[in-house]
Amino acid sequence: MATYQQPCVHCGAMTERDARACPSCGSMSPFGYLCPTCLRPIQKGKALCAGCGRPLYVPCPACGASTFVQENCEHCNASLMVYCQNKRCGIRQFFQNTRCTACGKKIKAVKQDK
Ligand SMILES: [Zn+2]
Ligand SMILES: [Zn+2]
Ligand SMILES: [Zn+2]
Ligand SMILES: [Zn+2]
Repeated sequence: MATYQQPCVHCGAMTERDARACPSCGSMSPFGYLCPTCLRPIQKGKALCAGCGRPLYVPCPACGASTFVQENCEHCNASLMVYCQNKRCGIRQFFQNTRCTACGKKIKAVKQDK
């Protein structure tokens, strides 16, 4: 059977269509952008998430410029993700999330990984 592969939108590496994460760059949404809060598909250029209504452009905590809610700032490439502090979870979360989308635990404001 043929394996369907598609390039990761973040790094361009060919990734299997049913992969949960890009094996090359580790992105958890290799075929498009997902709302970091409700995990619905979102599109660049839109102002708000249709699912939860969160703004899709936020000020980068590193450089202050407005950036799309992706994994890295569009301008300075700083990571916009933090790790869930639940040791059994440890999933990467958007820095503005107040609750982990995987385990549901509250996320405290922490320093970002570089
Ligand atoms: Zn990738
Ligand atoms: Zn949303
Ligand atoms: Zn930035
Ligand atoms: Zn978690």
